[in-house]
Amino acid sequence: MITSRAAGSVGGVSTALGSPTLEDTYAQAVPDLVVPWAAAPARDPQVVVLDEELAAELGLDPDALRTSGLLVGQVPEGVRTVAQGYAGHQFGMYQPRLGDGRAVLLGELVAPDGTRHDLHLKGSGRTPFARGGDGRAALGPMLREYAMGAAMHALGVPTSRGLAVSTTGEQVPRDTGLLPGAILARVASSHLRVGTFQYAAHQDPSPVRVLADHAIARHYPHAAESDEPYLELYRSVVAAQASLVAQWMLVGFVHGVMNTDNTTISGETIDYGPCAFIDGYDPTTVFSSIDHAGRYAFGNQPMIVRWNLARLGECLLPLIDSDSDTAIEKATAVVQSFTETYDEHFAAGMAAKIGLAEPDYPLIADLLTLLGTERTDWTTFFRGLGNGTARDLFVDREAVDAWVARRDALTDPAAVAAMDRVNPVYIPRNHLVDAALGAAEAGDLAPFHELLDVVRRPYDERPGLERWTEPGTGPFVTYCGT
Ligand code: AMP
Ligand code: MG
Repeated sequence: MITSRAAGSVGGVSTALGSPTLEDTYAQAVPDLVVPWAAAPARDPQVVVLDEELAAELGLDPDALRTSGLLVGQVPEGVRTVAQGYAGHQFGMYQPRLGDGRAVLLGELVAPDGTRHDLHLKGSGRTPFARGGDGRAALGPMLREYAMGAAMHALGVPTSRGLAVSTTGEQVPRDTGLLPGAILARVASSHLRVGTFQYAAHQDPSPVRVLADHAIARHYPHAAESDEPYLELYRSVVAAQASLVAQWMLVGFVHGVMNTDNTTISGETIDYGPCAFIDGYDPTTVFSSIDHAGRYAFGNQPMIVRWNLARLGECLLPLIDSDSDTAIEKATAVVQSFTETYDEHFAAGMAAKIGLAEPDYPLIADLLTLLGTERTDWTTFFRGLGNGTARDLFVDREAVDAWVARRDALTDPAAVAAMDRVNPVYIPRNHLVDAALGAAEAGDLAPFHELLDVVRRPYDERPGLERWTEPGTGPFVTYCGT
């Protein structure tokens, strides 16, 4: 049951689901960047999956959550939910008004550990940002986002996380026919995007300074102490994103739609659409059916993030320095630091994956060439390197043996001992994800629960899960399928 907060209490509205309250500091800070909006009532809401561990981290009682209606947008009286505005470059083309077309921000929860999280719904009906869309979401794609977020979290990659997926009792029309409608309740440290800054920067008068102050307070409080807080904010976002995309590359993750509106200020992965993990190593890998030119191919991701961050820099210029030439010079130096920071993270991560204490750049570069030559399975290779089976994956044994001999001469015992904790056995293999989602849409949730079980413990090898270590056959395509 949900009750509204007692009159006079501070800090937002009680959800009566535990200690946290729903706050709205974002909506209060930048009212021009949001539209007050409520989720459309769901006809017959049913919770399909709920992440009880995440609920507990947030201080929410899972049982109360299941029955409260909060997961489909029934909020206590007094809670002001909003649709957030944002702009964005989609495949390089600027769109001045995107925004939450089918989503609402229920509010911010302060967890028992003091951290602040957005609680947000996707698929909760049309909003003033809906453009031509129906405001709905289908069950398969919402379960996909839920599972992929769980997988990335378990792999230690910063990410938004699905709290729950509920069906609405309605059918939504999509290309493939009528599909069960669903709402994803998700949690992120915020939903601030590069596109949010683009949206703010194009308004007159522009709330970009207030937005930047909110971002600093929320994500990078140390920047407030700097002589140049906005430059420091920019530096922090660049560093966080360089680290994030390096982690994507290390686990073989292809986001698929790296538009500026899908690039966060926090440095968390967000908006899982046609994303997928690579099997064989190939930097040109593209899964998304809409990415015809391969703009968001696996190997392009670092460069694309850097490009997106340059767009953020443009929004911050007036805050960085009143002299525009000076501002450009300072911002340029920051965005240029991306490449070095990224390289350091990637190389350090690769060193850990192959059992070295320090990166050896030529060894890493030669490994990538070797893996690319035969499109060796990325995940299986590193795990196999730890247990001596990696060479079995190659046709050209001489080449792999020569590389392994060079590597063996450089290994560090502690790093070798830690390899199985950085190299997953299991990733959400594409064909098995698709099969699980197909079964779920047809009413059988068992394969989806197996998927969750597998991806939540990616490092523990378990008997009976061998098929999760094998790539599917043939090329794999993901559909934006919203
Ligand atoms: P996405 O590809 O999910 O990042 O969405 C891009 C933009 O399209 C965002 O502004 C979404 O809110 C909007 N959008 C996507 N699907 C729908 C839909 N079914 N109804 C309304 N807006 C949508
Ligand atoms: Mg998006």
